[in-house]
Amino acid sequence: MSSTSTTSGTATTGGAQRLTALRDAGLVVHAPGSDAYDALVSGFNLDNAVSPAAVVEPADAHDVATVVRLGNELGFGVGVRLTGHGLSPALDDQVMVHTGTLSELHVDPDARRARVGAGVVWQQVLDAAAPYGLGAVAGSAPAVGVVGYTTGGGVSPVGRTYGLGIDRVRSFEVVTGDGSLREASAEEDPDLYWALRGGRGTAGIVTAVEIELVEQAELYAGSMFFDGADAPAVLRAWASWSAALPEAATTSLAFMRLPPLPTLPPPLAGRFTVGVRFAWTGSAQEGAEALAPLRAAATPVLDGIGPIPFAAFGAIHMDPVDPMPVVEDHTLLAELPDGAVDALLALAGPEAECPQIMVEVRQLGGAMRHGTDAAFAHRAAGFSVHSVGLAVPPVRDAALGHGAALVEAVRPWSTGGRLPNFATRGDADWYRAAYGETGVARLREVALAHDPRGVLAGTRALRAATD
Ligand SMILES: Cc1cc2nc3c(=O)[nH]c(=O)nc-3n(C[C@H](O)[C@H](O)[C@H](O)COP(=O)(O)OP(=O)(O)OC[C@H]3O[C@@H](n4cnc5c(N)ncnc54)[C@H](O)[C@@H]3O)c2cc1C
Repeated sequence: MSSTSTTSGTATTGGAQRLTALRDAGLVVHAPGSDAYDALVSGFNLDNAVSPAAVVEPADAHDVATVVRLGNELGFGVGVRLTGHGLSPALDDQVMVHTGTLSELHVDPDARRARVGAGVVWQQVLDAAAPYGLGAVAGSAPAVGVVGYTTGGGVSPVGRTYGLGIDRVRSFEVVTGDGSLREASAEEDPDLYWALRGGRGTAGIVTAVEIELVEQAELYAGSMFFDGADAPAVLRAWASWSAALPEAATTSLAFMRLPPLPTLPPPLAGRFTVGVRFAWTGSAQEGAEALAPLRAAATPVLDGIGPIPFAAFGAIHMDPVDPMPVVEDHTLLAELPDGAVDALLALAGPEAECPQIMVEVRQLGGAMRHGTDAAFAHRAAGFSVHSVGLAVPPVRDAALGHGAALVEAVRPWSTGGRLPNFATRGDADWYRAAYGETGVARLREVALAHDPRGVLAGTRALRAATD
């Protein structure tokens, strides 16, 4: 992606002039070399370092609009980031808006809604909703940003009951690439609303969302683990058991090869195990009954599934919280027949030379199949396959090669699609896989209508891949 050539009509100004203009506008700006800059550019995935020309901490949505307007006037690009859980464009020579200061969070228990600033992460929403017996369609990692997750579609550990994250968005407050602060909802600017539900940062910098909460105080949920030697029996049992599950259940399975860290539970540290995640939105008794056949598939080495408060949502996947360098690959499957199970076992099972710390299969479907039209294009997919490897030499190359081989091995059952949130490269193939041909065309149209100069990093990345 070129950071200097895609803004038409204006030449990119020098870095000093840009910093002066941002500061003269009353913005809090951090330049490279300062501790604040270093802290704000570092994120969860240490393999996705960004080095923007400057970082702005906006006091409010109007500050975000000011940065984008200056980008239009002076010819610089503007990117956005919060936690660094997702891959973002490199942002070289651009200005990065760090949304951590947009920390507004208001729960309306009567309307069962929340207004959530772009600097808020899921655990904050879960904690704020819990006193009212409410939950949210959060992602597996409560430390992920609500807005980043939601604009990518939002595949939740309770998604088969409650749908995608985007299905719970009433409206977005957003700064588009022309520097305007707008509202986008089904009624107001429906094209922008369409693009923001799945299109990630392509069509605007979201400053706040209004989301629906769900009436659910507790879940029967958590993770249980089996010894890696039982992987074939557990995966085969999981594939047939999950096919018959009602929408009250959402489940995933992960082949885990975790390092021997003292912070991990001993049955998991330094061993190959198979984790089964399960979340049941009905009664605890029904949940235990639904899970019983899978519990009998082999002897668990650790069983952490039971009644939990909704706010303990992170216990379902037990995702890592500390920053780490990772590389990922991913594909979507229409179904998971025996051939796909065999392919997964061949590359990630007990006999495999598997360099990944995790190979995960999530069951999709259920309520995720329904919902209004959005840039998110994968409601019909049955399963997600996702590999995560440590990005440390020499494992990094092995993990990248293995991830690609895994995607290739399950290609006969693949829809050819990719979830926008499990982003890898942002090239033309990736955009096609994420949005389909017609989706890419519509996303381009919406993005360019609101960002004719190509100021936003998301618009630039899309144009660089598809011009
Ligand atoms: C451990 C882990 C678990 C995860 N679990 C799930 C899961 O269960 N389901 C799921 O769907 N995804 C999941 N993800 C993916 C995650 O939802 C995406 O990476 C998401 O983009 C992270 O958002 P963020 O704001 O926290 O991250 P950031 O890295 O700060 O942002 C990533 C991207 O999100 C977009 N973005 C961020 N803020 C804004 C904004 N204000 N306006 C517009 N665009 C913005 C931009 O494109 C940005 O480049 C997981 C990721 C990790 C690392």
